Amino acid sequence: MVLASRLQRFNEPETLKMAKLGRELRAQGHDVIDLSVGEPDFDVPDHIQEAAKKAIDDNWSHYTPVAGYPDLREAVCTKLKRDNNLDYKAENIVVSTGAKQSLANIIMALVDEGDEVVIPTPYWVTYAALVQLCQGKVVEIKTDLECGYKITPAQLEAAITPRTKVFMFSSPCNPSGAVYSTEELEGLAEVFRKYPNIAIISDEIYEYITYGQKPVSIASLEGMKDRTIIVNGLSKGFAMTGWRIGYIAAPVAIAKACEKIQGQVTSGTNSVAQRAAIIALTAPLDASEAMVKEFAVRRKRIVELLLQIDGVALAEPDGAFYAFPRVDKFFGKKAEDGSVISNSDDLCMYLLNTAHVSTVTGSAFGNPECIRLSFANSLGNIEKAVGRIKEALAKLN
Ligand code: PMP
Repeated sequence: MVLASRLQRFNEPETLKMAKLGRELRAQGHDVIDLSVGEPDFDVPDHIQEAAKKAIDDNWSHYTPVAGYPDLREAVCTKLKRDNNLDYKAENIVVSTGAKQSLANIIMALVDEGDEVVIPTPYWVTYAALVQLCQGKVVEIKTDLECGYKITPAQLEAAITPRTKVFMFSSPCNPSGAVYSTEELEGLAEVFRKYPNIAIISDEIYEYITYGQKPVSIASLEGMKDRTIIVNGLSKGFAMTGWRIGYIAAPVAIAKACEKIQGQVTSGTNSVAQRAAIIALTAPLDASEAMVKEFAVRRKRIVELLLQIDGVALAEPDGAFYAFPRVDKFFGKKAEDGSVISNSDDLCMYLLNTAHVSTVTGSAFGNPECIRLSFANSLGNIEKAVGRIKEALAKLN
């Protein structure tokens, strides 16, 4: 049997790979601390759980409309008005099995072979893989610690060519935690106004998880709404990763295209999760806010501890729940067994095998001088994990 060539075009997500390796090591009896996975370690708020139980009792058990229940699409519009002051109608909304499927739908709907998709680094691992799967070309704009992992208008303009079809980014960013200010987005919008045919994918899934300035959607800036596809979902802000609810708000033609694709791939997403999502999106956000308060404590602590390690450099993330330190000072050093740490892939494997802490290599996100540590873990585990990392790094020479 010969597998299709498309499988050669992309890799399995490094985030899931590291989590799997961590589980294998744990099964061998090691005390592994997982800082690789991007999911809140909180329970789903009670009122959302109750809504799901009621949905089962009320027999919400049949196939659902491909784009989502009409009242859920209305609830998404209510949320977009409440939080983002954006006016959408149900026809602009498509609900999917996680924001990951929303992104897959959009890329399939927009990207043909050879089309260029501009993506600032660091980016969420799946962005590049989806573009490669659709035979598009990823055009990276490099950012680094010095510029706060944000691009400038000049960098954006330099990356644009006649083949540019899509610009794609997340703010707050996974993995850097960078949040673009309104002024910074306005600078980018000014460039986009010169190139009306480029679609913007604005991944806002970490919208609620910020530690200072509230993020603004680029769709709310003049002239941007008609070319922007907002991607969001319930996984992060409501700790509902396993419930698999994501959605887009997009111009009708794009929403229709995504619905067509989804209609042949998965159909409408899970009925019970959709009923509960209506409550999640329209009820007060107290539980999400309490969760973010807890993340804020951990963020402060992990940054403080990482900065105490010689050779590690990082900035406080403004959003999401990841620390993304530079670790390239350790490249070229030798472990006790004589092996050389050549890059961030080697360093992550070294930390997994020596410190029993799983992290994710920065190369998966387009910044190979970094690694990503999730602080969606208890304060105790974070302190223990960074202590072990510090010890393991001190052994390199
Ligand atoms: N976008 C970003 C930036 C993410 O970090 C994630 C999850 N790690 C997703 C989208 C997808 O989320 P989900 O499919 O769980 O809704």
